[in-house]
This record gives sequence, structure tokens and C-alpha cells, in this order.
Amino acid sequence: MRCLVTSSRPYDQEYLNAANNGRHELIFTDVTLNAKTAFVAQGFPAVCPFVDDRLDQEALHILAKLGIELLALRSTGYNHVHIATATQLGMTVMRVREYSPYAVAEFALALMLTLNRKVHKAYNRVREGNLLLDGLLGFDMHGKTIGIIGTGKIGLALARILHGMGCRLLGYDISPNPAAQELGMLYLPLEELLQQSQIVSLHLPLLPETQHLLNAERLALLPKGAMLINTSRGGLIDTAALIGALKSRRLGAVGLDVYEEEAELYFRDHCDDIICDDTFERLLTFPNVIVTGHQSFFTREALQTIAATTIENLTDYCEGRSNHNIVST
Ligand code: NAD
Repeated sequence: MRCLVTSSRPYDQEYLNAANNGRHELIFTDVTLNAKTAFVAQGFPAVCPFVDDRLDQEALHILAKLGIELLALRSTGYNHVHIATATQLGMTVMRVREYSPYAVAEFALALMLTLNRKVHKAYNRVREGNLLLDGLLGFDMHGKTIGIIGTGKIGLALARILHGMGCRLLGYDISPNPAAQELGMLYLPLEELLQQSQIVSLHLPLLPETQHLLNAERLALLPKGAMLINTSRGGLIDTAALIGALKSRRLGAVGLDVYEEEAELYFRDHCDDIICDDTFERLLTFPNVIVTGHQSFFTREALQTIAATTIENLTDYCEGRSNHNIVST
């Protein structure tokens, strides 16, 4: 099948070509797909978008007119696609339901430990010849209460790691996970989890009902100085409220791999640009905030699985087979 792989980077090309082994005709472009750029898909029955492509209603109508039948997403999340419109236009949407939950869970842990033990500050200090420990004081993770919001594949992988470190685990999910309960995770209403957790980590999808799940009111419930980690989707947190909670010192540390307005910003080099997003720039001024550019998924194992599943999705579609990666409304 002829497929245009959009927002592609050299690593996408390397892993997809290896998995494809000549079965499909993959054409790679670094163009980000949206209503303005959709014309690039002319002549392709399929596109393979990433999370920074914006497939809103307008973009989908253009793609449908161009004859696009299949959206083979190379991500787990699909909040960047207006699924109801795609379905109504007769397009099939497939995703990578599962790749490496360990990649994201381990990155969430990396953010927690870096913020707690201030490894990022120590790295810079030592290179400048400053070997003072003042300001680097952390805490033992052992015995701390960690709230995991969303306890599916990634939340469970993180729970297993933290269980091994001797943490007390609290969970919030619309559908509690028995495997997490076996680890001793105690499920609580969201408000109670927030009141009791020294660290909170988000692992649920961005949906209309989870948009701004953490707003000013809920952030105010956290114990003073709590740490918040978001490796899931930026829209789960009201960023203005987050900045307020940092300024009031309710939040003592924040690790963000994702950001509400990342679509225009992430996966590009802005070193010679003026970044005009003042909210993003404000986040970077806090000494207790680490922002990374949506890299939690970025391990060799994850890229291999994303590529293999994407090729399987193309093949299944071509051969008229349904599979569990089809996204429906
Ligand atoms: P999953 O489907 O296995 O788990 C999601 C959990 O969220 C489920 O247990 C579900 O019951 C729960 N949930 C859904 N709606 C909820 C609601 N309204 N309230 C409470 N809980 C709710 O998904 P996963 O593989 O663990 O991935 C979780 C999220 O991580 C994805 O949706 C994606 O947005 C994000 N993600 C980020 C990256 C990255 O690189 N930063 C990579 C992969 C996934």
C-alpha cells in the first residue's frame, strides 16, 4: 500500500523501513499534517501521522476529498484525530494500541528521581567546579506515597517499579486494575488521592472528560511541596493553574514531558527562533520544573514495536482483516 509518513524524522524512516522490508510503498516527509498542509497527501490512499499532526475536522474533510482511506497512527494516543469525523467520512483509523509501557514508565521515574535528587543541577555545578551540596537535598523514595492517575499498561508498569522501591501506592482509575491491587495499590476517589500523595504521576488518555483533570481546585488539594509528573498528554493539566500552584509553592517540583500547546512547538529545533508562547517560556523559568520534548516513548524497543505494528496495520487493512488496533467512536 502507498502510504505517506508525515512528521517523520530519520529514526522513523530507519525503523519503519526495517519493519516494512519492501511490503508497502512508504514515502517519508517531515511536513506536519494539518488543514493547511493536507494537500501533500494527494495520490496516497493512506497516511501515517504522529502525535504532532493535527487531524481536526477541516483537515479530515480535505484528506477525504483527496481519497485517503486509512489513517495508520504511529502512536497509542489518538486525541490529535477527530475520530467521529474520520468515521463519518468512511476512513479507517488504526493505532499502535501497545508498544513499550516500560519506556514511558521508566521515563516518569527518571523525571521523579532527577527532580528529587537534583541530578540536573549537580551535573552543571560539578562541570563548573562547584562541589557544594547545598541546595541538592532530596528525600528517600522508600516509604513515600505515590498517586498514580490512570492505572492501565503504563500506570501498572510504573506501579511495579515503585512497589520495588518500597513506595506506598494510591490509584485512581474509572476501571481499577486487579494487577495493581495485587501490589497493594489502594484505589481512592481523585480528591483523596491528591490530598495524600507526595508525588502524583498521570497515565490516562486525554479525552473530553479528562481535559484539565488537574485544575486549580484540584491542584490546591495536594500536600504543600508535592511533585507532579506528566508523561501522558499536556491537556490533562490546566497550565495556567499549574503555574499558579508553582508560584504559591503548593507544587514543589514538576516534570512535564508533554505540554498543552506542544503541537506548534515540539519535535523541532527552535534554537534560532523567538518562542512566542509565554506560558511555555514561564514554565522554563522555574528552578524546580523540568520540561522535556515528548520523549518518554523514545527507546529502541518502542520504535521497533511501533514500526512493526504500523506495518501490520497496513497489511491487515490491505488484506481486509480487522484487528484490535482499529479506533472507533
Ligand atoms: P491504557 O489504555 O493501558 O491505560 C489508560 C488508563 O486510563 C486505563 O486504565 C483507563 O481505565 C484509564 N482511564 C481512561 N479514562 C479515564 C478517566 N476518565 N478517568 C480515570 N481513568 C481513566 O493506556 P496506556 O498505554 O497506559 O497509556 C496511557 C496514556 O499515556 C496514553 O493515553 C497516552 O496519552 C500517553 N502516552 C504518552 C507517551 C509519551 O511518549 N509521552 C507514550 C505513550 C503513551
